[in-house]
Amino acid sequence: DAVIFSMIQPTGDFHLGNYLGANRVWKQLQDHKVPQQTCLFGVADLHAITVPKLDVVKFKQLRLQAIASILALGISPEKCTIFMQSKIPEHSQLNWLLETITSMGYLNRMTQWKSKSEGVDEDQVKLGLFAYPVLQAADILLYGSTHVPVGEDQTQHLELTRNIARRFNKMYKGRYLVEPQTIFTPTKKVLSLNNPTKKMSKSDADPLSRIYLTDAPESIQKKIKKCLTDSISDNFYYDPENRPGVSNLINIVSGIQGKSVEEVEKDIAHMKDYNTLKTYVSDIIIEDLTPVRIRYEQLIKDPAYLMDVATKGSLEKARPIAQGTIKRLMETMGF
Ligand code: ATP
Ligand code: MG
Repeated sequence: DAVIFSMIQPTGDFHLGNYLGANRVWKQLQDHKVPQQTCLFGVADLHAITVPKLDVVKFKQLRLQAIASILALGISPEKCTIFMQSKIPEHSQLNWLLETITSMGYLNRMTQWKSKSEGVDEDQVKLGLFAYPVLQAADILLYGSTHVPVGEDQTQHLELTRNIARRFNKMYKGRYLVEPQTIFTPTKKVLSLNNPTKKMSKSDADPLSRIYLTDAPESIQKKIKKCLTDSISDNFYYDPENRPGVSNLINIVSGIQGKSVEEVEKDIAHMKDYNTLKTYVSDIIIEDLTPVRIRYEQLIKDPAYLMDVATKGSLEKARPIAQGTIKRLMETMGF
């Protein structure tokens, strides 16, 4: 049986990178439901507290916004399990069990850890930031997940997850934990609009670096207009090495339209200036995101409903699976 599992952090409104790298696939997988398929999509709120400073009121709101965004994308609480990580204590419990078999050396090689801790004083950098990939492995392994749709930045963490599962199974001589497969989209890495050497991120300080799923059309136009490109303005083609800005736009269009990069190149071959290209790109984004934004604006007005969806999905659907896993593993380990 296929168990499709993925989560997103409530660290800000969802952007085009989240959407094209992960969230849109959640919806596609939900709709191409094969028999015996379970889909679990969650808000990773325990992960969100690894950042230095959180405003409590804002954090509560961001958690609701994440649920509203998931629903606005067309993820259905009937077809899928929509859950809030912190409502299921078994995530933290499995995290501990797995931390006892994970090596510091392996965690030290995680590129996300390296980049996030670089230059930060050792007394300031937190254990949670170092160890969060283990919690992520626990999240995934708790449900026997077989397929995990994520962006490219999660490659290493998924490898770690498989490594931990293998290690546990070897230690206790059995197939207790499932090694999950990573699912990537062709747009597994959407780049920042104003610095195309970095990925688009919720945590980037500059909001002009990303397009939110909830952005108004004018805002999308403005951000695309301002995005960093190059000075070759009469010939647009895909060359991520030398022309990362244009290539990112081509990639975004190809992701939204489900066309290959070559097809998009053909579609824009006649264009002679950046103004034309950028108008074309923003129109395509606006058309695709408008229904999502309209649904989101409705949903966010009803926080009680949003919390109810998250609570039901967590306690009635996700938690019983998680409890079963913990019980089996604890017994296996001799508790
Ligand atoms: P943060 O900056 O707080 O880490 P984020 O934008 O990286 O936020 P996450 O909640 O960490 O978002 O990730 C949610 C999902 O979106 C993950 O599957 C991640 O791989 C994917 N993702 C994030 N950014 C991109 C991107 N630029 N391109 C493709 N996929 C992405
Ligand atoms: Mg991230």
